[in-house]
Parts: sequence; structure tokens; C-alpha cells
Amino acid sequence: MTHCRITFDGPVILGAGLAGLTAALAAKRALVLSPTALATGCSSAWAQGGMAAALSDEDAPALHAADTIAAGAGLCDPQAVDLLTTEGPAAVRALAALGAPFDKTGDDFVLSLEAAHSRARVARVGGDGAGAAIMAAVIAAVRATPTIEIRENARARRLLQDATGRVVGVLAEIDGQLVEILSPAVILATGGVGGLYAVTTTPKEVRGEGLGLAALAGAVIADPNSSSSTPPPSTSAATPRPWPPRPYAARGRSCATATPAPSWPTITRRPRTGPARRGRPGHPCRTRGRPRRLPGRHGGGRGSAATSRGNSRPCSRPACAAASIRAAP
Ligand SMILES: Cc1cc2nc3c(=O)[nH]c(=O)nc-3n(C[C@H](O)[C@H](O)[C@H](O)COP(=O)(O)OP(=O)(O)OC[C@H]3O[C@@H](n4cnc5c(N)ncnc54)[C@H](O)[C@@H]3O)c2cc1C
Repeated sequence: MTHCRITFDGPVILGAGLAGLTAALAAKRALVLSPTALATGCSSAWAQGGMAAALSDEDAPALHAADTIAAGAGLCDPQAVDLLTTEGPAAVRALAALGAPFDKTGDDFVLSLEAAHSRARVARVGGDGAGAAIMAAVIAAVRATPTIEIRENARARRLLQDATGRVVGVLAEIDGQLVEILSPAVILATGGVGGLYAVTTTPKEVRGEGLGLAALAGAVIADPNSSSSTPPPSTSAATPRPWPPRPYAARGRSCATATPAPSWPTITRRPRTGPARRGRPGHPCRTRGRPRRLPGRHGGGRGSAATSRGNSRPCSRPACAAASIRAAP
């Protein structure tokens, strides 16, 4: 495989879901890498229900935060909840201003009451078409911004680090060619880990590779065992599984007594004692110095055996294998 090096003068964004493309619009100048054509291969385009935010006069971010913390049953990071609930309303309004056709009555969002929310706060698009419609608006805005460059058929393989361990770019496979992209910033927006599950409603491209790349670069991955899984997929034999019809998410249904709601993985920097670490210490399975459970279609499904401490065998998990590419030929 050939190998070349380029320099980009803005952030390189790994992933073209809602997070990646929103970051690109905020940065104004950015290079976005997407393994697939835009609007495919990402959870964002598959989201159905809508976006929860305190958008009505009867609601407030603090109420939204309290509901989220309660439903989280001890798994939520309060700072993350505070950020999401405080900035949520402006984020939804910004997407609407970009052209996402949220259901409205006059200037007011039509809001539905769902799950553990104590107020009606889920803003929908055409009933169940939120993800595709929001992504269409965001993609149109990105394509209309000439300073944002998109590379499709481009998958990040490794983060590039200097001698101090600082991330200075990314090694990507673009159209079958390995390319080192040097850049002042790299933004990881590769989504969740759902694609690793044998039974999943998530696109297969979304398999935690950003977490693996970050771990190999020295980050500590918190709570990789937490993953969103409600409502459960239908019993269809298709892979990935389609969701059951939307009425499953009945108005006001409480999930507080079901499986605890997920907390998204957070990444913190591991203290460095020397030059850039390579190899086992950064293995995605090794977290907070103790064995962790990871989801997998490779080892008995959810909660399969942890493999971290003292394990000298290479892990065959797809995320780990994909992240294990160390050097270009
Ligand atoms: C069926 C379904 C229904 C949902 N319904 C709702 C809902 O109603 N409301 C709600 O709030 N949330 C919902 N969600 C969750 C929501 O869609 C996600 O939380 C959100 O879209 C995540 O956005 P993201 O940009 O972080 O990740 P994604 O949209 O998954 O984007 C990740 C991107 O990273 C790319 N990528 C992966 N690996 C690499 C790599 N190595 N290099 C470069 N790029 C890479 C992927 O191809 C993709 O483009 C739903 C999810 C699913 C699957």
C-alpha cells in the first residue's frame, strides 16, 4: 500500500455524523474523514425519535438534568449532563435555523413526552424522521461551506504523535492509500461502539475505533462497557437489526427500573512518564488499571470476559484490531 504525507492547516475531524459535521461547521475550516458516503454509515442518519431539550416555557435545563440524573441510576457524569441540558435548547434551535424541518406549531416546537422525561421535551421531525432530516440540513450546510473539505472512503487508522506524545495528526486510509495528515488538531467524532455487538441497531461502521485510537495514543477510556441499548431491537434476522415500530417508546414510559441508562465514554489524559507509549499499555481493553467488560460479537455477547490485565495475547476485537495498525509500509 502506498504511503504519502500531507499537511492540513485546520482541524482534521474523524467521523461525519452529527458530531463531526457540527464540529466542522463550528471550526469553519476543517477536513472531515468519512469511511462511507455522507449520510450513510453513521447513527445520526438513523436516529428516529428526535432530540430532547428544554424548549418549552414549562421546562428548564435544570429539570431536564434532574430527570437525566435520576434515569441514569448513578452512571451519569453530572458535568456532561449539565453541559448537554444547558446547551441543548440552543443546539436544537441552531439546527432548525440551518434548515432542519422540526415539527412546529407556529414558532413553537411540537414536543413529545417520552421515557423518563417529566416534561414533553422531544423535538421531532416528520414524526420519526429526525436523524435523516437533520443530517440532510447539516450536510447541505457543510457542502455549502467551501473551506470545509470532505474525504469519503477515508478511515482513520492511527493518531500520529510527536516525541512528547502530543497528537500531531492522523494516519488515514483514503481510497486504499495510506496518508499521513499532519494537522494542528484532531477531533474524534467516530460515534459509539454499537456496531461491535452481534445484535445491534447501530450501523456496522460505528465500532468504537475512535476510542481505540485514543487509547493507543495514551488516553484513559472511561466506562467502555456503557452503551445505549433501549429500546431493544426487533426480532428480525436482519443485521443490523431494525428498531421496533416507534409506538414502543410509549408516552411517559419510565426506564428508571430497566437497565441503567448509559453514560457515554469520557476520555481523560493518562499522565505520561516518558515518550509516546506504544503497544499494550494503550490497549482499548485496559481501562483505569483494572479489567473491564467490553461488548462483543466475538466473545459471548454483552458482558463477555474481560481480557485486559496480564493478557499477553493480542485481542481479536474489531476495534482493537483496526486500531493496532502501527506503521505504514
Ligand atoms: C436506530 C437508532 C435510533 C436512534 N434514535 C435516537 C433518537 O431518537 N434521539 C437521539 O437523541 N438519539 C438517537 N440515537 C442515537 C444518536 O443517533 C447518536 O447518539 C448520535 O447520532 C451520535 O452521533 P455521532 O456523530 O457521535 O456518531 P455517528 O453519527 O455514529 O457518526 C460516527 C461517524 O464516525 C465514522 N467513523 C467510524 N470509524 C471511523 C474511523 N476509523 N475513521 C473515520 N471515521 C470513522 C462513522 O462512519 C460515522 O460517519 C439513535 C441511534 C440509532 C442507531
